[in-house]
Amino acid sequence: MAKNENVKVIVVGGGGAGLCASIAAVEAGAAGVTLMEKMPKLGGDTIISGMVISAGGTHLQEQAGVQDTPHQYLIDLLAGGRYTSDLMLAATLVQSGPAAWEWLTKHDCQFPGPEGLHVQHDHTLARSVKFAPPGMISPLKQAAEARGVNIMLSSPVQSLVLEDGRVAGVIGEKDGQTTEYLADSVILATGGFGRNKDMVNQYNPKFAEAASWNSLGITGDGITLAQAAGADVVQMEALRIIQTGADVRVKVLHPTYLMGQIRALGGILVNPDGKRFYDEMGRSYEMIHAAMAHGPFYFLIFDAKMATPSQWLPEKTFEEQLNAAVKDGMVAMQADTVKELADQMGAPALVETVQRWNADTAEGEDTVCRRIEGLNPITEPPFYAIRYKPAIVQTLGGVRIDTRARVLDQSGRPIPGLYAAGQVTGGIHGADYIGGSALLECAVYGIIAGQQAVIDV
Ligand SMILES: Cc1cc2nc3c(=O)[nH]c(=O)nc-3n(C[C@H](O)[C@H](O)[C@H](O)COP(=O)(O)OP(=O)(O)OC[C@H]3O[C@@H](n4cnc5c(N)ncnc54)[C@H](O)[C@@H]3O)c2cc1C
Repeated sequence: MAKNENVKVIVVGGGGAGLCASIAAVEAGAAGVTLMEKMPKLGGDTIISGMVISAGGTHLQEQAGVQDTPHQYLIDLLAGGRYTSDLMLAATLVQSGPAAWEWLTKHDCQFPGPEGLHVQHDHTLARSVKFAPPGMISPLKQAAEARGVNIMLSSPVQSLVLEDGRVAGVIGEKDGQTTEYLADSVILATGGFGRNKDMVNQYNPKFAEAASWNSLGITGDGITLAQAAGADVVQMEALRIIQTGADVRVKVLHPTYLMGQIRALGGILVNPDGKRFYDEMGRSYEMIHAAMAHGPFYFLIFDAKMATPSQWLPEKTFEEQLNAAVKDGMVAMQADTVKELADQMGAPALVETVQRWNADTAEGEDTVCRRIEGLNPITEPPFYAIRYKPAIVQTLGGVRIDTRARVLDQSGRPIPGLYAAGQVTGGIHGADYIGGSALLECAVYGIIAGQQAVIDV
């Protein structure tokens, strides 16, 4: 096995957190930083994300006249996470938010002007923006290269080197050769485990059959590597779930974005038996968990007057997409009567469900789920059903760290030489995530990990 004695800091994983950590480590004075990425290109989930980032108390908000503070953001974050976040980790995230935005700007990430500020889901204020093109990865890659970070692609890390209770490097593969790379510090930035069905099944079997929106490399490697070195893990059951089409071919129709709009117009959700199960205007976290109590999928039911385009639909028109989904048969169904629709769905109870919904809307009182908004009857043919099932967007649990991004063992003691940042860690978000907080986490904890990995040596 070859040895590379020159490497001082090794960063495992080349998404947002890994790139921030690499740059921060160089800037903190590391003699050499190597970033090992198992896929043939950098980016991970960061590059496929919505590129929305949040922070409270930024200059951009000041320019836009939005009065906000890190504390106000913290209040929203804790509520979004059902008050299960690690308070110190969450507080560090929000407190460091404005400085992290400045840091990203200094490293050539482009933010839009104040007009780009908007209110993301579960926030009470406009504190989120979408990065201007080309997003986060490409500028950070350039910044890392310009600072001499040695980026190794197609280089999966397979295990950590342990010496006298200290992490002293990694064993990784490159061009079919297994090599030991020694380092003073190792930073894990390998993302979550949404693409690893076995791990999802192990930690939250209710979602074992959920689809995954994650990129291919997101298989929980960093968590297993850290555990083998004695690390503790936290909140492994916590998942960020989104409602998505039951069939991956649903790319012809973007049901996630449609769903909110159609529900607001009077669409209802029913379980595989055709019965309603939750206030359709409620929060998606509770809605999805309620849906899961009844089976692996559920349906959105609506009529012709609710089948209107959404501002979110790209390129193809809504009508084309809906027709294509109906033609597909699995994703969407269409019928001239509710009875025919119920037959297609194999859910005879739907007929009575829709009758009751219509009667309730006439009376202005939802007697089944106590919904108070969007009480509109489903009466105008054709009638539609879109089949949904949950999909994992993020796994929120992971390696336990402290506010200095040091990986902790089961007694809460830092494991010397081991740091972690980004989605590989757990505890910041708690039970659920609020918009734009994960990319902020990549920046804040990536920077902390990069600096700490040098300071501690
Ligand atoms: C569709 C989608 C949309 C999203 N939109 C948003 C959004 O708008 N705003 C927001 O805040 N969050 C969003 N998120 C969440 C956010 O993108 C992620 O939480 C964040 O990007 C994770 O960054 P990371 O650096 O921790 O991991 P990643 O960006 O996933 O990078 C991890 C990298 O590690 C590599 N790796 C894994 N194992 C190994 C190994 N053994 N050896 C070497 N390399 C390895 C992977 O290949 C990957 O490249 C979204 C997520 C998805 C899936």
